[in-house]
Amino acid sequence: MASQPLVIVLMGPPGAGKGTQAKRLAKELGIPHVATGDLFREHIKKGTPLGRLAQGYMERGELVPDDVTIAMVIDRLSQPDCARGALLDGFPRTLPQAKALDERLAELGWCIHVVPNIQVREDVLLRRLSGRWICRNCGAVYHIEFRPPARPGVCDVCGGPLYQRPDDRPETARQRLRVYFEQTAPVLAYYQRQGLLVEIDGEQSIEDVHDALVKAVRLLPEE
Ligand code: ADP
Ligand code: AMP
Repeated sequence: MASQPLVIVLMGPPGAGKGTQAKRLAKELGIPHVATGDLFREHIKKGTPLGRLAQGYMERGELVPDDVTIAMVIDRLSQPDCARGALLDGFPRTLPQAKALDERLAELGWCIHVVPNIQVREDVLLRRLSGRWICRNCGAVYHIEFRPPARPGVCDVCGGPLYQRPDDRPETARQRLRVYFEQTAPVLAYYQRQGLLVEIDGEQSIEDVHDALVKAVRLLPEE
């Protein structure tokens, strides 16, 4: 019998290091990295109706409405590459999203394996967001101070150009953190009650956060 698909929900405020960690962990686990922020940015790039709808919310640092966000994730999870599960990053961010995910997983006969929550203090988050640079080509994530590329403005992985997200500007970043603590904190309590939450200290080095995640997931050999 095929093994049960693996669903991991990676939580943490904007700038905690979810994308940085998820890219590597998803590869190691052999499941796709499904990041709702990336999916919305793809829609914006392609100029789809969903992209046009999401753009305003994202520019203001607000959440995109639940109905369209949930529909987008359900659609993504039904793609063939998710047959073995997914590493979710940036979803769910509200209680209705968490409940909709549970319902969908129940329909599929799947369940959530673990919910690691990467914790980082607010002043550190703001420093991380203000210095974040991303490759326009492959999405690799850098930091001007903490993870600089070998050549300024150029991706180490693919040579593509690096850019700063408009919503990483200090005012919008602060608004995103407010929204996180107001609307996403109840989701942490929801997973805590289910015994799925594992706290991860996100202020360690990128390597040490990775090791803590591997321990939390308990599926890969520890080094
Ligand atoms: P998120 O996906 O949670 O918003 P990112 O993975 O994009 O966060 O990381 C935010 C910024 O912090 C990036 O510039 C990244 O290079 C940097 N970063 C990530 N993890 C660490 C870490 N453990 N220590 C220092 N900087 C980090
Ligand atoms: P991120 O890339 O995770 O920092 O997300 C960037 C932006 O996309 C957020 O500030 C929201 O506007 C939007 N977004 C991403 N994920 C969600 C979600 N699960 N629910 C609502 N909005 C989201």
